[in-house]
Amino acid sequence: MMKYINYRDEQIKQKGSPDIITIIQKQPQTIEKYLNWCRLIKILPYGGKNGNPLKQNKGIGKILSGYRDHILEGGAKDSPHFYCIAIDVFIPFWNSKKILIQNVYDYTKKAFEAGFLRVGLYPSKNMCHFDLANSEWCSKRNAFSHCWVQKKNLEYLGFQQLFLAWNFILENQNLF
Ligand SMILES: [Zn+2]
Repeated sequence: MMKYINYRDEQIKQKGSPDIITIIQKQPQTIEKYLNWCRLIKILPYGGKNGNPLKQNKGIGKILSGYRDHILEGGAKDSPHFYCIAIDVFIPFWNSKKILIQNVYDYTKKAFEAGFLRVGLYPSKNMCHFDLANSEWCSKRNAFSHCWVQKKNLEYLGFQQLFLAWNFILENQNLF
């Protein structure tokens, strides 16, 4: 059973940006799922071949945010990042002609296969959020329980299925 602890409330200071180290110390299962995901989409995970946790792959899958001790503009007031159960990874949504890259859908689908419980899509930021917030965590906070999309104006839209979220992005590219 996973224990959910708000480390920001416990005044644990963020160590650098992204802070991956605090996640490894407090909730290593988040990083285990990330490594599963890297294997599934066949990318070299952060750590590279030699396992140095601070050396990261520069392309798809680069961790942009890990543990956070502050609220971001447009970010949740009670973010799973405070609990060390979330990471944001670089995933390019668009090609140079601003057309949606199709295989990106599969990358996000594989996050669930890897063991993550929720996926947030941030097409404007070329970024995806993966986390381990279970249904109890979500219902207590009135949060989306499966996946969501953030629009350019920072508004969030929740979806019950990932393909519906992707269809929404495909049909409303001007919003991103
Ligand atoms: Zn996030």
